[in-house]
Amino acid sequence: MEIINDKSCGWIDYDNRRSKIKTLNNNIKCDYLIIGAGFTGLSAARKLAEVYKNKNIILVDAQIAGEGASSRNSGYLVDTTLNDGFTSDKDINNYKKKVQLYELGIKAVEKFNKEYQVDCDWNECGKYFASSKLKDEKKAKHFSELLAKLNFPNDILYQKDLKDKLGTSFYKVAVYTKGGILLNPAKLIKAMIKALPENVALYENTFLYNWKKFNDQINCTFKNFNIKTKKIIFCTNGFLSKLDIKKRYNFPITLTASMTRPLNDQEFESIGKPKEWGVLPIRPMGATIRMTKDRRILIRNTAELKNPNNMSDLELKKRSILHEMGIQKRFPSLPRNIINSTWSGIVCRSGNGSQIFEKIDENIFVAGCYNGSGIGVGTLFGEQIALMSSDQDSEEISIIQSKKKPMWLPPQPFLNMGIFIRLLFERIIAKSEI
Ligand SMILES: Cc1cc2nc3c(=O)[nH]c(=O)nc-3n(C[C@H](O)[C@H](O)[C@H](O)COP(=O)(O)OP(=O)(O)OC[C@H]3O[C@@H](n4cnc5c(N)ncnc54)[C@H](O)[C@@H]3O)c2cc1C
Repeated sequence: MEIINDKSCGWIDYDNRRSKIKTLNNNIKCDYLIIGAGFTGLSAARKLAEVYKNKNIILVDAQIAGEGASSRNSGYLVDTTLNDGFTSDKDINNYKKKVQLYELGIKAVEKFNKEYQVDCDWNECGKYFASSKLKDEKKAKHFSELLAKLNFPNDILYQKDLKDKLGTSFYKVAVYTKGGILLNPAKLIKAMIKALPENVALYENTFLYNWKKFNDQINCTFKNFNIKTKKIIFCTNGFLSKLDIKKRYNFPITLTASMTRPLNDQEFESIGKPKEWGVLPIRPMGATIRMTKDRRILIRNTAELKNPNNMSDLELKKRSILHEMGIQKRFPSLPRNIINSTWSGIVCRSGNGSQIFEKIDENIFVAGCYNGSGIGVGTLFGEQIALMSSDQDSEEISIIQSKKKPMWLPPQPFLNMGIFIRLLFERIIAKSEI
C-alpha cells in the first residue's frame, strides 16, 4: 500500500508548495540509492554528494520530500528529554550518552543552518517539562537534580510564574530547561531539499515496493520501474518494519497534532501576550503544546497504534476534537473553532529508546528510529551513515556506536498487544494532562 499524506499540516500549509516534482520514469542504475527523504535521507544524500562529487546518487520518497514526520513534528530540537524513565540517576551513564547524541544533533543542524544561511524561526528559548498536578513535583525535582548533575541549567517553576510565562494557569509545576531550540520544521526541511547538490537526483511520489540483493547489486522495485544500485541506505524511519528492516527491533506509532490560526490581538491579550514557548509533558502521553512565533497554538495529545499509511478525514476530525479540548482546558478565554489544521505523522520506536544505525548486510545501511526526537539526531545520523557507507570513520560514528542497541521485541500479535496495553495505561495516567 502506498503512503498518502493527510491533506493538511499547519507547518506545510503556511509555506509555498514546491513545484517541479520529479517521479521515477525509467529504469536506472546508480552507485548509491537512499530511500526516504526526511531529515535522515536528505542529510545522508547531502553528505554523500560532498564525499563523492562524481558518483551517481539517487534519493527517493514515496511522498513529497520532507512531508513525512520531518515536516509534521512539533519542532523541538531537544537537548534533554524526560519521558523515558530518566527521573533518577540510576542509569546516568546511559542518559549521558543520550544527551551527547542530542548535543551532536543540535550541532549538525546549527552547522547546516550556518552554511546554507537558513531561516527556520530558530529560537533558543528553552522548554518546559510541565504538569497540572502538584503531585508531579517530586518527579520534576528528581529530573531537575539529574540535569543539574549533568550541568544543564534549569529551574523549577510553579503556577504563578508559569501563568506569567505561558499565559495559562493550567500547569502547577514545571522544570524549565534553558537549553533546547524551537523551530519551524517545514522551513528547515525545505532548506535541506534546496541544498541538495547537483549530483543527487531526487524522485518523489516514488514508492519502493520491494528490494532484493543479488550478488553485489541491489534491485529495487517501484510502481512501473526499477533501480539497480551498488549501495543502499534505508532512511524510512516509521516505515522500516514495513520494508522488513530490523523488524524485531522497531515499531511505528501514529501521532496526531493540530494547529490554530494566529490569535488576533484581542485573543492574544486575553492570555497575557506571552513570548514563544514550548511545553512537554512530565507524564508520558500528556500533551506537547507550543505557542509559535506567529501566535499560533500547536497541540499534540494522541499516540496510538494505527496502520501507518494515512488517517481518514473522519478519524482526524475525532483527534481534532481532543486537541480542541486540550486547548480549551488551558486557554478558556479563547474561542472554539480556532484550529485550522489537523494532521497525523508516524514515529519509529524501539523497546528501550535506542536508535538504529547499522550496516545490516554488505552494502546495505540503515539509520532511524529516533523515538520521537529526530530533528537533530536524524540530521546527525543521516550524515554519519553516509560516511559509514563510504568506509569513512568519524568521532561521531564511534559515539553513536557506543550507545545501547535497540532491544529485541516479541513477535506479533504479542508485540501489538503489549504496545496497546502500555499506551492505554499511560493514557489513563496522563488523563489530566491531555
Ligand atoms: C506529530 C509529531 C511530533 C514530533 N515532534 C518532534 C519534535 O518536537 N522534535 C523532534 O526532534 N522530533 C519530533 N518528532 C519526530 C521526528 O519528526 C522524526 O524523528 C523525524 O522526522 C525522523 O526523520 P526521518 O527522516 O528519519 O523520517 P521521516 O521524516 O519519517 O522520513 C521517512 C520518509 O521515508 C519515506 N518512505 C517510507 N517508506 C517508503 C517507501 N517504501 N518508499 C519510499 N519512501 C518511503 C516516507 O514517505 C518519509 O518521507 C515528531 C513526530 C511527529 C509525527
